[in-house]
Parts: sequence; C-alpha cells; structure tokens
Amino acid sequence: MITDPICSLDIAMFTILAAHVGLTIGTLSRHLKRRPDFKPLVDRLLRFDTVGIYLLTERGHGLDAFNIETTATKTSNGYILHTPREEAAKFMPASTPSFSIPKVALVMARLIVDGEDRGCRFFVTPICNEREMYRGVHSVRLPLRSGTGPLDFSITSFEHVHLPSTALVASDILDYSVPPQPLEAWWDEIWRIQLGTLAVPAPWISAIKAVAYIGGRYSMHRCLLGKRNESVPILTFRTQQWPVVHATAVGMVMANWFPLVIQQAMERTTDHRIRHAMSVITKTTICRHFQRCVPEVAERCGAQGTFEHNYMARIENDGKGVIIAEGDVLTLCIRLFSELLQKRYEVPMPDPAESLLALHASSLLEENIALLKNIKGDHRSDYFNALILPQSQVVVEAIGHALAYSAALQSNLPQPILDVYECAIIRQDPAWYSEQGGLSRMDQRLREDAAVSSMLPNLSSFFADLGIEKYVTAPIVSDAGWKDYLAALPVHTGTAIPEVELLQAML
Ligand SMILES: Cc1cc2nc3c(=O)[nH]c(=O)nc-3n(C[C@H](O)[C@H](O)[C@H](O)COP(=O)(O)OP(=O)(O)OC[C@H]3O[C@@H](n4cnc5c(N)ncnc54)[C@H](O)[C@@H]3O)c2cc1C
Repeated sequence: MITDPICSLDIAMFTILAAHVGLTIGTLSRHLKRRPDFKPLVDRLLRFDTVGIYLLTERGHGLDAFNIETTATKTSNGYILHTPREEAAKFMPASTPSFSIPKVALVMARLIVDGEDRGCRFFVTPICNEREMYRGVHSVRLPLRSGTGPLDFSITSFEHVHLPSTALVASDILDYSVPPQPLEAWWDEIWRIQLGTLAVPAPWISAIKAVAYIGGRYSMHRCLLGKRNESVPILTFRTQQWPVVHATAVGMVMANWFPLVIQQAMERTTDHRIRHAMSVITKTTICRHFQRCVPEVAERCGAQGTFEHNYMARIENDGKGVIIAEGDVLTLCIRLFSELLQKRYEVPMPDPAESLLALHASSLLEENIALLKNIKGDHRSDYFNALILPQSQVVVEAIGHALAYSAALQSNLPQPILDVYECAIIRQDPAWYSEQGGLSRMDQRLREDAAVSSMLPNLSSFFADLGIEKYVTAPIVSDAGWKDYLAALPVHTGTAIPEVELLQAML
C-alpha cells in the first residue's frame, strides 16, 4: 500500500493512513489473540467506519515523549484520563469531528495506581462521533501547516475522562506492575513507530520521480528564442539538465533499493537493533535526497514551479512533516551514530573496495571512531556533543548512499543512472573525494560531465522507466496540458469603459 504512487498525490490522506493502519491498528494487532474484545474495534477500523489516531506526543514533550504527563489513574471500575496542564496536551493528530467520521485514539498516559506511577501505557479512548466530541475530550484545531495538504492537525486534551478497565492496551489488563526497565518498556510500547520510520518515506520516492518527470518534460518543451531566431528548449542548458537527470537517477536508485530494505527488515531472524538502524538509514537517505532534488527542480521551472497546481512547491512543504513524524531524522541519526561509534552493533555495509561511495562511507565511520578514541570523555561529553554529533547525519547518509548504490549495481541499473547517482553523492562531499578518493576538483567536473552526457540521449526512455506518468497531474508537463488547464480557469471580463479624465491622468 505505502509504495503505491497514489500516496504521493495526497499527503494529508497518507498521514491519516499511516497513523490509522501503521500505528493504531498495528499496535492493537499485537494483543488480538489475548484480547478478543479488541476485535470489533479493529474490524471497524479496518472497514474505515472509525478513524484511528495515535496520541503520543505532548505539546511540551516532543522528542522526549518518554516524559509525557497525561495520567490514567486507576479507579475501582476503570481509569480517569486527565491532562494536568497545557504542556501535557497531545500534539498534532487530527482529532476534530470536522469531517463527520467517528474517531478513536490510542492515548499514551502514565498509569497511576494507588498514587504510584507505573509507567507509560496506551489507552483506547473514544474521541468524537460523526458530529461532536465526547464529553471531557477537547480538540483545538491548529492552522494549516504552510503550503501543505489540508488536515485538521489539533491539540487534544482530556478533562477527567472515565475509561473502562478494558481500555488498557495490554494482553493482560490486570498487569499493573512497574516495568523493570522503564525506558525499554516504553520503546516496546511504541514499537510500531520503529516500523513507521521505514514506511513513511515511501511516498517521497514517487514524489522524487514525479518531480523529475515534471521538470524534465517542462524543460523539453519550454523554449527560448535563440540567436538565429530558432526555438531552443531550456533543457539544452547543462544547468537545467543536471537537476532533471539528478532527480531521475535518485528516483530510480531509491525505488530499486527501498523494497530490498523492506524485505530485509521483514526477515524474522534480523536483530531488531539492526532492523531499526536500517530504517533510520533508509528514512534519512530518502528524505534528504528528496529535499535536495525537489527544490532544485522546482526552481528551474521558474514561476510555474511555485504554483500549487504544479505539485512541486506543495510536496516540498509536505515533505517537511515526514522528516519529523515517526522519528525525527536528525535525532534518529544522533542515536544510531552514537551506537555505531561505540560498536554496540554493526550495520551490514558494502565492501569498501566495491565503489567510491562504499569507501567514502567506511572512511567517514572509521574517522569518527578514531576521533571518539582521542577525545576527552565518552559519548555524553561536551567534546562528543561539539565534534561528533554534527557528523551524525552526514555519516548515516553516506552509509545509505553506499548501500543504495550497491543495490543498484547488483540490480544492474543502467550505467548512466549509476554514474549520475555517484556524481550526485560526490557533489555532497567534494573535499573527501579530492583528499582521499583520488579525484581532483577538475576530475570531479569531468566525471560529472561524462555522466550527464551519457544519460541525455535516452532521457525520454528513462522518464518512461520511472513509471510515474499516469500519476502526474501538473499541467506544465506539456504545452497542450497547460493550454487546457488555462482554459478551465476563471476569466475576469467586463464592459466598463474608463472615463476620459481618468485615462489622461493615467497617461
Ligand atoms: C506531519 C506530522 C504528523 C504527526 N503525527 C503524530 C501522531 O500521529 N502522533 C503523535 O503523537 N505525534 C505526531 N506528530 C508529532 C511528532 O511526533 C513530534 O512533532 C515529534 O516527536 C517532534 O516533537 P516536537 O515537534 O515537539 O519537536 P521538539 O521535541 O521540540 O524538537 C525540536 C528540535 O530540537 C532538537 N532536539 C530535540 N531533542 C534533541 C536531542 N535529544 N538531541 C539533539 N537535538 C534535539 C532537534 O533539532 C529537534 O528537531 C506529528 C508531527 C508531524 C509533523
């Protein structure tokens, strides 16, 4: 479902699906065998009669959601769910009744029994019916996130809401024990987010392809009048070619790699830490590629690139949400990088001899492992914070580039695609490739020139290989498409005749 290109057309819809299926149904599914009473709810959710939302983050506790403050206090016949202060209100999920559909939430709260905090648990909580909120549940609709697909993102709070004892999301509803390792228990409660980290970047691969296609097609038919009055398509310019071939190659390399990572993640034998590491590497790599490709192509489409109807400007803004949701890219990288440097586990990396990108990734990792040995203090020290943390994302991305390139080599992607992808990565760290990769700045330029030139003769066929054309609605992909679109826009006309004095005053 998540890899269907249609998901990249409406990110508000994808956001609902990701929380509904991935988080809400996913979390409940683990308990279904021992909690058959959840089945009617799961059936309703599967039929989409009710929308499931996942209320974890609080306004005052985002990335430190382990410290949430919402409480669920045990009573003789259930729980009282309560938001003790503004900072403890749940942040983001769309909880209003605005769209005439009932909503139910999994709310994470601190379980309080006999005045004692027994750790964080989820509670099934009805939010609204088709018309209104349930008693004691308050939803404040937030304004639109700039330039994004509309969704009723909200701030949700609870005022002494009574829940039955079966609301506790657990296989044993009588187990109120304090977990021996509270942080590990918390990670286990939110296990679906770790899978979401891998799932949510899927639409961005389709989006990169769509943007490559839109920018490429536009650049083929948008012409200037040349010196001898002949029409010259803007794609003639290397400055136009690069963003288009770059996005095309990235789209193809990511589309090849992503299903292979999913397959790897699904293998039961895989160590869960490595599975999560792969999710972080994949999300980081795809999201950052997206952020480089999309604005670059959009800007090369001039004013057209800034309009809603041409897709690129809006998808760029929508993309900012996914970088934060289901694991904020930067902080995911910080955690993973710290663990890799401490050699708590290893991720499978390609042999450094396989490619320049593989050599780059292993060299950066080794460099930072050596640096950690030489700094004063450990991974909690000020030196680590100042010198190593800022490298986290760069190195995690480098590992992703090497893995994706390796997968592309093994899948025999066309040589021009491999070469352009390689050059795009070299562009990100030209100093390393010059210092250690044996490629001077001039070598890098010549290599890029050869790569782009090799891709151009078959550009239309590479666009077809993207398999995205039928999902593209941007009218600028063809001149005829634009003219049809324009013809459907409202035209302002009138019969007013300017008064003579006014006309003279204007002149
Ligand atoms: C589109 C979208 C959908 C969402 N859906 C849901 C949902 O369904 N359910 C839900 O509960 N929440 C949801 N959220 C909320 C999301 O989980 C939070 O936004 C996220 O956890 C980050 O919290 P925050 O925004 O409060 O950022 P903050 O916690 O304020 O972090 C801001 C920045 O501080 C820095 N920072 C924070 N901690 C560290 C650290 N330890 N080390 C280094 N730097 C740090 C980072 O630069 C970080 O980007 C959604 C958010 C978005 C954008």
